[in-house]
Amino acid sequence: MNKNYLPYGKQSISDIDIEAVSKVLNSDWLTTGPQVQAFETAMADYIGTNHAVAVNSGTAALHTALFAAGIERGDEVIVPPMTFAATANAVVYLGAKPVFADVNRSSLLIDPQSVIEKITPATKVIMAVDYAGQACDYDSLKRIADEYDLILVADACHSLGGKWNNAPCGSQADLSVFSFHPVKPITTGEGGMVVADNKTFYDRMQIFRNHGITTDHRQRQEQSNWMYEMHSLGFNYRLSDLHCALGLSQLGRLDAFILRRREIATAYDAAFADCTALQPLETMPYNYHGYHLYVLRLQERNRIFQDLRSRGIGCNVHYIPVHLHPWYRKNLGTSEGMCPVAEEAFSEILSLPIYPDLERTDQEMVIEQLLELSAR
Ligand SMILES: *Cc1c(COP(=O)(O)O)cnc(C)c1O
Repeated sequence: MNKNYLPYGKQSISDIDIEAVSKVLNSDWLTTGPQVQAFETAMADYIGTNHAVAVNSGTAALHTALFAAGIERGDEVIVPPMTFAATANAVVYLGAKPVFADVNRSSLLIDPQSVIEKITPATKVIMAVDYAGQACDYDSLKRIADEYDLILVADACHSLGGKWNNAPCGSQADLSVFSFHPVKPITTGEGGMVVADNKTFYDRMQIFRNHGITTDHRQRQEQSNWMYEMHSLGFNYRLSDLHCALGLSQLGRLDAFILRRREIATAYDAAFADCTALQPLETMPYNYHGYHLYVLRLQERNRIFQDLRSRGIGCNVHYIPVHLHPWYRKNLGTSEGMCPVAEEAFSEILSLPIYPDLERTDQEMVIEQLLELSAR
Protein backbone atom coordinates (compact mmCIF):
# COMPACT_ATOMS: atom_id res chain seq x y z
CA MET A 1 0.00 0.00 0.00
CA ASN A 2 1.18 3.54 -0.76
CA LYS A 3 2.71 4.85 2.45
CA ASN A 4 1.01 8.19 1.95
CA TYR A 5 -2.43 6.65 1.47
CA LEU A 6 -4.69 6.95 4.51
CA PRO A 7 -7.22 4.10 4.66
CA TYR A 8 -10.72 4.56 6.16
CA GLY A 9 -10.17 1.67 8.54
CA LYS A 10 -7.27 -0.47 9.69
CA GLN A 11 -6.29 -3.02 12.33
CA SER A 12 -4.10 -2.28 15.35
CA ILE A 13 -1.74 -5.17 16.16
CA SER A 14 0.48 -5.05 19.26
CA ASP A 15 3.41 -7.16 20.45
CA ILE A 16 1.04 -8.81 22.94
CA ASP A 17 -1.24 -9.85 20.05
CA ILE A 18 1.72 -11.31 18.16
CA GLU A 19 2.95 -13.20 21.21
CA ALA A 20 -0.51 -14.68 21.78
CA VAL A 21 -0.55 -16.13 18.26
CA SER A 22 3.07 -17.35 18.47
CA LYS A 23 2.25 -19.31 21.62
CA VAL A 24 -0.47 -21.20 19.79
CA LEU A 25 1.91 -22.04 16.93
CA ASN A 26 4.09 -23.82 19.48
CA SER A 27 1.17 -25.62 21.13
CA ASP A 28 -0.57 -28.93 20.41
CA TRP A 29 -3.71 -27.38 18.95
CA LEU A 30 -3.86 -25.24 15.85
CA THR A 31 -7.62 -25.52 15.57
CA THR A 32 -10.61 -26.44 17.75
CA GLY A 33 -8.42 -26.37 20.85
CA PRO A 34 -8.51 -24.42 24.12
CA GLN A 35 -8.25 -20.96 22.52
CA VAL A 36 -11.61 -21.35 20.78
CA GLN A 37 -13.40 -21.97 24.05
CA ALA A 38 -11.44 -19.25 25.84
CA PHE A 39 -12.36 -16.67 23.18
CA GLU A 40 -16.01 -17.77 23.16
CA THR A 41 -16.23 -17.57 26.95
CA ALA A 42 -14.60 -14.14 26.99
CA MET A 43 -16.98 -12.84 24.31
CA ALA A 44 -20.04 -14.26 26.11
CA ASP A 45 -18.81 -12.61 29.34
CA TYR A 46 -18.14 -9.29 27.61
CA ILE A 47 -21.58 -9.18 25.96
CA GLY A 48 -23.36 -10.78 28.91
CA THR A 49 -24.96 -13.69 27.06
CA ASN A 50 -25.05 -17.37 27.99
CA HIS A 51 -23.43 -18.62 24.80
CA ALA A 52 -21.02 -17.67 22.03
CA VAL A 53 -20.04 -19.63 18.92
CA ALA A 54 -16.90 -18.70 16.97
CA VAL A 55 -16.98 -19.13 13.19
CA ASN A 56 -14.61 -18.18 10.38
CA SER A 57 -16.22 -14.95 9.14
CA GLY A 58 -18.96 -12.48 9.92
CA THR A 59 -20.77 -13.81 6.87
CA ALA A 60 -20.58 -17.37 8.23
CA ALA A 61 -21.88 -15.97 11.54
CA LEU A 62 -24.91 -14.46 9.79
CA HIS A 63 -25.59 -17.75 7.97
CA THR A 64 -25.19 -19.70 11.23
CA ALA A 65 -27.46 -17.35 13.20
CA LEU A 66 -30.23 -17.54 10.59
CA PHE A 67 -29.91 -21.33 10.47
CA ALA A 68 -30.27 -21.42 14.27
CA ALA A 69 -33.35 -19.21 13.96
CA GLY A 70 -34.86 -21.91 11.75
CA ILE A 71 -34.92 -19.96 8.48
CA GLU A 72 -35.82 -22.14 5.49
CA ARG A 73 -37.04 -21.92 1.92
CA GLY A 74 -40.16 -19.78 1.64
CA ASP A 75 -39.47 -17.70 4.76
CA GLU A 76 -39.03 -13.94 4.69
CA VAL A 77 -36.44 -11.99 6.65
CA ILE A 78 -36.70 -8.22 6.99
CA VAL A 79 -33.35 -6.45 6.47
CA PRO A 80 -32.29 -2.84 5.97
CA PRO A 81 -30.65 -1.96 2.64
CA MET A 82 -28.02 0.28 4.26
CA THR A 83 -25.59 -2.57 5.02
CA PHE A 84 -22.94 -4.79 3.51
CA ALA A 85 -24.41 -7.25 1.00
CA ALA A 86 -23.56 -10.22 3.28
CA THR A 87 -26.44 -9.33 5.64
CA ALA A 88 -29.00 -10.08 2.94
CA ASN A 89 -26.93 -12.75 1.16
CA ALA A 90 -27.10 -14.95 4.27
CA VAL A 91 -30.89 -14.98 3.94
CA VAL A 92 -30.57 -16.11 0.32
CA TYR A 93 -28.11 -18.91 1.31
CA LEU A 94 -30.99 -20.55 3.18
CA GLY A 95 -33.42 -20.26 0.29
CA ALA A 96 -35.36 -17.52 2.04
CA LYS A 97 -36.26 -14.03 0.82
CA PRO A 98 -34.74 -10.78 2.12
CA VAL A 99 -37.42 -8.09 2.33
CA PHE A 100 -35.98 -4.58 2.52
CA ALA A 101 -37.29 -2.13 5.12
CA ASP A 102 -36.17 1.49 4.84
CA VAL A 103 -33.97 3.36 7.30
CA ASN A 104 -34.36 6.41 9.48
CA ARG A 105 -33.15 9.57 7.73
CA SER A 106 -30.97 11.01 10.48
CA SER A 107 -29.26 7.83 11.74
CA LEU A 108 -29.61 5.45 8.75
CA LEU A 109 -30.69 2.73 11.21
CA ILE A 110 -33.60 0.46 10.29
CA ASP A 111 -36.92 2.28 10.71
CA PRO A 112 -39.33 0.33 12.97
CA GLN A 113 -42.36 1.77 11.18
CA SER A 114 -41.05 0.50 7.85
CA VAL A 115 -40.43 -2.92 9.44
CA ILE A 116 -44.10 -3.15 10.48
CA GLU A 117 -45.19 -2.30 6.93
CA LYS A 118 -43.08 -5.17 5.51
CA ILE A 119 -44.38 -7.94 7.79
CA THR A 120 -46.33 -10.73 6.04
CA PRO A 121 -47.45 -14.22 7.19
CA ALA A 122 -44.10 -15.54 5.80
CA THR A 123 -41.94 -13.23 7.95
CA LYS A 124 -39.81 -15.15 10.51
CA VAL A 125 -36.94 -12.84 11.44
CA ILE A 126 -36.18 -9.14 11.73
CA MET A 127 -32.53 -8.44 11.07
CA ALA A 128 -31.29 -5.21 12.64
CA VAL A 129 -27.97 -3.71 11.57
CA ASP A 130 -26.14 -1.50 14.07
CA TYR A 131 -24.97 0.70 11.21
CA ALA A 132 -21.69 2.62 11.72
CA GLY A 133 -21.44 1.34 15.31
CA GLN A 134 -24.56 2.58 17.06
CA ALA A 135 -27.38 0.33 18.20
CA CYS A 136 -30.79 0.31 16.50
CA ASP A 137 -34.03 1.30 18.23
CA TYR A 138 -34.28 -2.01 20.09
CA ASP A 139 -37.18 -0.87 22.31
CA SER A 140 -39.35 -0.65 19.20
CA LEU A 141 -37.83 -3.66 17.42
CA LYS A 142 -38.26 -5.95 20.45
CA ARG A 143 -41.86 -4.81 20.84
CA ILE A 144 -42.56 -5.58 17.17
CA ALA A 145 -40.82 -8.98 17.39
CA ASP A 146 -42.91 -9.88 20.47
CA GLU A 147 -46.17 -8.71 18.95
CA TYR A 148 -45.71 -10.61 15.66
CA ASP A 149 -43.87 -13.60 17.19
CA LEU A 150 -40.67 -13.01 15.21
CA ILE A 151 -37.05 -13.75 16.06
CA LEU A 152 -34.82 -10.68 16.32
CA VAL A 153 -31.29 -11.04 14.93
CA ALA A 154 -28.71 -8.25 15.25
CA ASP A 155 -25.97 -7.76 12.69
CA ALA A 156 -23.66 -6.16 15.26
CA CYS A 157 -20.57 -6.35 13.03
CA HIS A 158 -20.08 -2.59 13.48
CA SER A 159 -21.10 -2.13 17.11
CA LEU A 160 -18.93 -4.45 19.23
CA GLY A 161 -17.73 -2.30 22.13
CA GLY A 162 -20.63 0.14 21.86
CA LYS A 163 -23.57 0.32 24.28
CA TRP A 164 -27.35 0.69 24.11
CA ASN A 165 -28.91 2.07 27.31
CA ASN A 166 -25.65 1.14 29.08
CA ALA A 167 -25.88 -2.51 27.98
CA PRO A 168 -23.27 -3.90 25.57
CA CYS A 169 -24.25 -3.90 21.90
CA GLY A 170 -24.98 -7.48 20.93
CA SER A 171 -27.05 -8.17 24.06
CA GLN A 172 -30.39 -6.85 22.74
CA ALA A 173 -31.48 -9.40 20.12
CA ASP A 174 -32.17 -13.15 20.31
CA LEU A 175 -29.02 -13.77 18.26
CA SER A 176 -26.24 -11.23 17.61
CA VAL A 177 -23.50 -11.46 15.02
CA PHE A 178 -19.96 -10.02 14.97
CA SER A 179 -17.19 -9.87 12.36
CA PHE A 180 -13.46 -9.81 13.04
CA HIS A 181 -12.33 -8.59 9.62
CA PRO A 182 -9.35 -6.19 9.95
CA VAL A 183 -11.43 -3.00 9.65
CA LYS A 184 -13.90 -4.10 12.38
CA PRO A 185 -13.71 -3.12 16.10
CA ILE A 186 -11.38 -6.08 16.83
CA THR A 187 -9.78 -8.47 14.35
CA THR A 188 -8.75 -12.09 13.94
CA GLY A 189 -7.80 -11.61 10.26
CA GLU A 190 -11.00 -13.30 9.18
CA GLY A 191 -13.48 -14.45 11.78
CA GLY A 192 -16.91 -14.07 13.28
CA MET A 193 -19.02 -14.89 16.33
CA VAL A 194 -22.68 -15.40 17.19
CA VAL A 195 -23.90 -14.82 20.75
CA ALA A 196 -27.24 -15.94 22.18
CA ASP A 197 -28.89 -16.83 25.48
CA ASN A 198 -31.00 -19.67 24.12
CA LYS A 199 -29.44 -23.16 24.53
CA THR A 200 -31.31 -24.63 21.54
CA PHE A 201 -29.86 -21.93 19.28
CA TYR A 202 -26.42 -22.66 20.73
CA ASP A 203 -26.64 -26.40 20.09
CA ARG A 204 -27.81 -25.87 16.51
CA MET A 205 -24.97 -23.46 15.81
CA GLN A 206 -22.24 -25.71 17.22
CA ILE A 207 -23.33 -28.49 14.92
CA PHE A 208 -23.88 -26.25 11.88
CA ARG A 209 -20.31 -24.90 11.93
CA ASN A 210 -18.89 -28.44 11.92
CA HIS A 211 -20.55 -30.15 8.91
CA GLY A 212 -23.68 -31.03 10.89
CA ILE A 213 -21.65 -33.50 12.96
CA THR A 214 -22.62 -33.86 16.60
CA THR A 215 -19.14 -34.05 18.19
CA ASP A 216 -15.90 -32.26 17.37
CA HIS A 217 -12.40 -33.69 16.94
CA ARG A 218 -11.22 -32.54 20.37
CA GLN A 219 -14.22 -34.06 22.18
CA ARG A 220 -13.65 -37.40 20.42
CA GLN A 221 -9.93 -37.40 21.24
CA GLU A 222 -10.61 -36.60 24.90
CA GLN A 223 -13.25 -39.33 25.13
CA SER A 224 -11.11 -41.86 23.18
CA ASN A 225 -14.00 -42.27 20.81
CA TRP A 226 -13.99 -42.53 16.99
CA MET A 227 -17.76 -42.45 16.61
CA TYR A 228 -19.46 -39.48 14.98
CA GLU A 229 -22.69 -38.94 13.08
CA MET A 230 -23.94 -36.26 10.75
CA HIS A 231 -27.55 -35.34 11.46
CA SER A 232 -28.04 -32.21 9.39
CA LEU A 233 -26.27 -30.46 6.54
CA GLY A 234 -23.65 -28.09 7.92
CA PHE A 235 -20.47 -26.39 6.80
CA ASN A 236 -16.84 -26.11 7.82
CA TYR A 237 -17.23 -22.71 9.47
CA ARG A 238 -14.76 -23.42 12.30
CA LEU A 239 -12.42 -20.67 13.53
CA SER A 240 -8.87 -21.85 14.35
CA ASP A 241 -7.00 -21.58 17.64
CA LEU A 242 -4.58 -19.18 15.97
CA HIS A 243 -7.42 -16.82 15.12
CA CYS A 244 -9.05 -17.18 18.51
CA ALA A 245 -5.81 -16.39 20.36
CA LEU A 246 -5.59 -13.14 18.39
CA GLY A 247 -9.25 -12.42 19.05
CA LEU A 248 -8.86 -13.00 22.79
CA SER A 249 -5.88 -10.68 22.92
CA GLN A 250 -7.70 -8.04 20.85
CA LEU A 251 -10.79 -8.26 23.05
CA GLY A 252 -8.61 -7.13 25.97
CA ARG A 253 -7.84 -3.97 23.97
CA LEU A 254 -11.40 -3.32 22.75
CA ASP A 255 -12.46 -0.71 25.30
CA ALA A 256 -9.31 1.34 24.65
CA PHE A 257 -9.93 1.04 20.89
CA ILE A 258 -13.47 2.41 21.31
CA LEU A 259 -12.31 5.29 23.50
CA ARG A 260 -9.84 6.29 20.80
CA ARG A 261 -12.46 5.95 18.04
CA ARG A 262 -14.81 8.17 20.06
CA GLU A 263 -12.06 10.74 20.54
CA ILE A 264 -11.53 10.87 16.77
CA ALA A 265 -15.29 11.21 16.17
CA THR A 266 -15.51 14.04 18.71
CA ALA A 267 -12.70 15.88 16.93
CA TYR A 268 -14.48 15.49 13.56
CA ASP A 269 -17.77 16.67 15.11
CA ALA A 270 -16.12 19.76 16.56
CA ALA A 271 -14.30 20.57 13.31
CA PHE A 272 -17.48 20.35 11.21
CA ALA A 273 -19.89 21.98 13.71
CA ASP A 274 -19.86 25.34 11.93
CA CYS A 275 -19.90 23.96 8.39
CA THR A 276 -23.52 23.53 7.30
CA ALA A 277 -22.40 21.74 4.12
CA LEU A 278 -21.16 18.79 6.22
CA GLN A 279 -23.84 16.95 8.17
CA PRO A 280 -22.64 14.10 10.43
CA LEU A 281 -25.23 11.41 11.13
CA GLU A 282 -27.22 11.71 14.33
CA THR A 283 -26.36 9.66 17.41
CA MET A 284 -29.38 8.56 19.44
CA PRO A 285 -29.22 9.76 23.08
CA TYR A 286 -29.45 6.20 24.49
CA ASN A 287 -26.39 5.06 22.52
CA TYR A 288 -22.71 4.89 23.34
CA HIS A 289 -21.55 4.91 19.71
CA GLY A 290 -18.67 2.58 18.82
CA TYR A 291 -17.79 4.54 15.64
CA HIS A 292 -16.80 1.67 13.39
CA LEU A 293 -17.53 4.30 10.73
CA TYR A 294 -17.63 8.08 10.84
CA VAL A 295 -20.28 8.97 8.25
CA LEU A 296 -21.41 12.39 7.16
CA ARG A 297 -23.75 13.66 4.46
CA LEU A 298 -22.76 16.28 1.93
CA GLN A 299 -23.75 17.58 -1.48
CA GLU A 300 -21.49 16.87 -4.47
CA ARG A 301 -20.31 13.70 -2.75
CA ASN A 302 -18.79 12.23 -5.92
CA ARG A 303 -16.65 15.28 -6.65
CA ILE A 304 -15.41 15.54 -3.07
CA PHE A 305 -14.78 11.78 -2.90
CA GLN A 306 -12.61 11.95 -6.03
CA ASP A 307 -10.72 15.00 -4.81
CA LEU A 308 -10.04 13.46 -1.39
CA ARG A 309 -8.89 10.20 -3.00
CA SER A 310 -6.55 12.08 -5.34
CA ARG A 311 -5.00 13.61 -2.21
CA GLY A 312 -4.39 10.18 -0.70
CA ILE A 313 -7.33 10.20 1.70
CA GLY A 314 -9.05 6.83 1.66
CA CYS A 315 -12.59 7.97 2.26
CA ASN A 316 -15.31 5.51 1.29
CA VAL A 317 -19.04 5.02 0.78
CA HIS A 318 -20.97 2.70 3.11
CA TYR A 319 -23.10 1.44 1.45
CA ILE A 320 -24.63 0.95 -1.96
CA PRO A 321 -28.14 -0.02 -0.81
CA VAL A 322 -28.22 -3.81 -1.14
CA HIS A 323 -31.45 -3.86 -3.19
CA LEU A 324 -29.71 -1.80 -5.90
CA HIS A 325 -26.96 -4.36 -6.57
CA PRO A 326 -27.32 -5.95 -10.02
CA TRP A 327 -27.67 -9.46 -8.56
CA TYR A 328 -30.62 -8.40 -6.39
CA ARG A 329 -32.31 -6.52 -9.23
CA LYS A 330 -31.93 -9.52 -11.52
CA ASN A 331 -32.84 -12.32 -9.10
CA LEU A 332 -35.21 -10.65 -6.64
CA GLY A 333 -36.67 -7.99 -8.91
CA THR A 334 -35.69 -5.16 -6.58
CA SER A 335 -35.43 -1.62 -7.96
CA GLU A 336 -35.13 2.07 -7.20
CA GLY A 337 -37.98 3.51 -5.21
CA MET A 338 -38.29 0.57 -2.79
CA CYS A 339 -36.35 2.31 -0.01
CA PRO A 340 -36.32 6.03 -0.87
CA VAL A 341 -34.65 7.21 2.34
CA ALA A 342 -31.69 4.85 1.94
CA GLU A 343 -31.45 5.67 -1.77
CA GLU A 344 -31.33 9.41 -1.15
CA ALA A 345 -28.73 8.97 1.59
CA PHE A 346 -26.62 6.80 -0.69
CA SER A 347 -25.90 9.75 -3.00
CA GLU A 348 -24.74 11.92 -0.07
CA ILE A 349 -22.84 9.73 2.39
CA LEU A 350 -19.09 9.67 2.89
CA SER A 351 -17.06 7.68 5.44
CA LEU A 352 -13.91 9.36 6.75
CA PRO A 353 -10.79 7.62 8.09
CA ILE A 354 -11.31 6.36 11.66
CA TYR A 355 -9.30 3.68 13.46
CA PRO A 356 -7.43 3.48 16.77
CA ASP A 357 -3.96 4.11 15.31
CA LEU A 358 -5.01 7.11 13.18
CA GLU A 359 -2.41 9.83 13.85
CA ARG A 360 -3.69 13.19 15.08
CA THR A 361 -1.77 15.02 12.36
CA ASP A 362 -3.34 12.77 9.72
CA GLN A 363 -6.82 13.49 11.07
CA GLU A 364 -6.07 17.22 11.03
CA MET A 365 -5.03 16.91 7.39
CA VAL A 366 -8.31 15.12 6.53
CA ILE A 367 -10.31 17.85 8.27
CA GLU A 368 -8.41 20.64 6.55
CA GLN A 369 -8.78 19.10 3.08
CA LEU A 370 -12.48 18.34 3.51
CA LEU A 371 -13.30 21.82 4.80
CA GLU A 372 -11.42 23.34 1.90
CA LEU A 373 -13.11 21.12 -0.72
CA SER A 374 -16.62 21.62 0.64
CA ALA A 375 -16.21 25.43 0.66
CA ARG A 376 -15.70 25.47 -3.12
C1 LIG B 1 -18.14 -6.86 7.76
C2 LIG B 1 -19.60 -7.04 7.76
C3 LIG B 1 -20.19 -8.28 7.47
C4 LIG B 1 -19.41 -9.46 6.99
O1 LIG B 1 -18.36 -9.82 7.78
P1 LIG B 1 -17.13 -10.67 7.17
O2 LIG B 1 -16.35 -11.03 8.39
O3 LIG B 1 -16.39 -9.76 6.26
O4 LIG B 1 -17.69 -11.86 6.48
C5 LIG B 1 -21.57 -8.38 7.59
N1 LIG B 1 -22.33 -7.33 7.94
C6 LIG B 1 -21.80 -6.12 8.19
C7 LIG B 1 -22.70 -5.01 8.59
C8 LIG B 1 -20.42 -5.94 8.09
O5 LIG B 1 -19.90 -4.73 8.31
